[in-house]
Amino acid sequence: MSLYMRNKACPCPRCKARGLLGAAVLITIGVLFLLDNLDVVSFHMTAPVILIVIGVVLYLGRTAPIDGHIPPYYPVGPVAPPPAQAAPPQQHDSQVNP
Ligand SMILES: [Zn+2]
Repeated sequence: MSLYMRNKACPCPRCKARGLLGAAVLITIGVLFLLDNLDVVSFHMTAPVILIVIGVVLYLGRTAPIDGHIPPYYPVGPVAPPPAQAAPPQQHDSQVNP
């Protein structure tokens, strides 16, 4: 059993579904406001649809197959030291003029 970690560049269904929550919520809210403005149905009657959409998208994101999944790449090994920086010029307080 391998540990699943999302990779934004992976083409598998689970990785694609995990990035859809924000878009699905915004589209749902837009459609519900549109229906409210067209006097089809009031927004307060359809607001629970947002929760249903969130639940469906989360379910799909957690149960979609991971066939062809490409795990994210994290470099392993010693960390390279930061590049050497030139030291700032030091000021000497001993050269105070009277
Ligand atoms: Zn994947």
